[in-house]
Amino acid sequence: MRDEGATQMNAAQELARIAAQAAVCTACGLASTRTNVVFGDGTAGASVMFVGEGPGYHEDQQGVPFVGAAGQLLNRLLGEVGLDRRDAYIANVIKCRPPGNRDPRPDEIQACKGFLAQQIRLVDPKVVMTLGNFATKLLLKQQVGITRLRGNVYPWWNRVVVPTFHPAAALRGGASVLESMREDFVLMRQVLDSAVAPEVEAEPRAEQLGLFG
Ligand code: URA
Repeated sequence: MRDEGATQMNAAQELARIAAQAAVCTACGLASTRTNVVFGDGTAGASVMFVGEGPGYHEDQQGVPFVGAAGQLLNRLLGEVGLDRRDAYIANVIKCRPPGNRDPRPDEIQACKGFLAQQIRLVDPKVVMTLGNFATKLLLKQQVGITRLRGNVYPWWNRVVVPTFHPAAALRGGASVLESMREDFVLMRQVLDSAVAPEVEAEPRAEQLGLFG
């Protein structure tokens, strides 16, 4: 019989080992401008995992993802569906802050995506909620943007991806973005409660092999 406690302890140890590797990573130019590597926050075995874009100023200062205004909104949306931040694991596509909070560059995403793949494998969540275009495109490999993809659930490597807007977009974009995010969080909660499932378990396409290709 699978010993859940032991499995999670091993996964937690492995996550800590990889976080220590990330802390000294120099695989891209962001190593020279970051204050801290922002690896992730939460526990192995969390049933839902969030993937944002990359650390901002406050995250870079503290070494923890989603601690600024966007993080406060994320915490609030979690609370509205009866979840606490401690029920989730939170990570980003890239682990170091781009100067001036510019968009992550393709070479930075390439250099960093192995860490995210390991995090997803070790946390082993039922649902991955992608926040915004960068995370959604990396996982779902769709050319269409988040506005068209959100509102649905997608089968992904024996898990379910629920894409939604980035909380920063709701902070900028007002009521309608926030309302859509609320709907997506309800959807995420329904998947967790097994009240909603994707219709088809798609075969991984050849270019998806290796998680992010
Ligand atoms: N925005 C992100 O995408 N990630 C963070 O950690 C904070 C803000």
